[in-house]
Amino acid sequence: MIVAIDGPAGAGKSTVAKALAGVLGVPFLDTGAMYRAITWKVLEDGFELADAEACASLARRTHLAFSAEGLCVDGVLRGAEIRSADVDKAVSIVAAHSGVRAAIVPLQREMAAEAGGAVAEGRDVTTVVFPEADHRFFLSASAEERARRRTMQRRAGEGSAGEDGAAGEGYELILAAIKRRDHLDSTRADSPLMRGEGVSVVDTGTLEASEVVKLMLSIIKNS
Ligand code: C5P
Repeated sequence: MIVAIDGPAGAGKSTVAKALAGVLGVPFLDTGAMYRAITWKVLEDGFELADAEACASLARRTHLAFSAEGLCVDGVLRGAEIRSADVDKAVSIVAAHSGVRAAIVPLQREMAAEAGGAVAEGRDVTTVVFPEADHRFFLSASAEERARRRTMQRRAGEGSAGEDGAAGEGYELILAAIKRRDHLDSTRADSPLMRGEGVSVVDTGTLEASEVVKLMLSIIKNS
């Protein structure tokens, strides 16, 4: 079974995708981590973010594989590295290059096929990567609500330090970072973030993660 979930940064996709994957007994496919990994390497190697060919060529020669602990990049687990503040700022620029997407998307399809299914989350998984998925969802919440949640997570020391505002950054900066990423991800030419046709939209703004999972499971069971 393939369940595809798209939505903007901070809508709660990872939390609910992980929980759904556990219940459904299929792997969780974090497609954003793969774009983060390529972006981390672009920064490490000192390439220009705007250099589409350099980014694409690096994506083609990078080995990506998920282990139980997370994403291994060229055989080494990279957790904190791919969620740094620098990667956070750069990832939407690197992910916009068609050559980068052309290297990553087939790999995502292969991973799901080899595992016999997946709960995949990202920005284009319902529209481009798995348009024929068994179930497709779009999670939404206002930018203000998403920023409010991220601010609370930062204060509680949860999540990664860099994600949409370094630790200690306040609500306004986090909101600006989220809006910037929303804009870049939804206005790019190749595979922009959008609500695909026939996708079930779930507004996570007023719901706890467990309630979102429950709602999605009931939609899956009743469809
Ligand atoms: O989901 P996450 O916040 O880790 O995604 C990081 C970035 O990777 C997104 O802001 C987007 O630019 C890119 N991305 C993408 N397509 C996906 C998943 C993520 O372009 N399917």
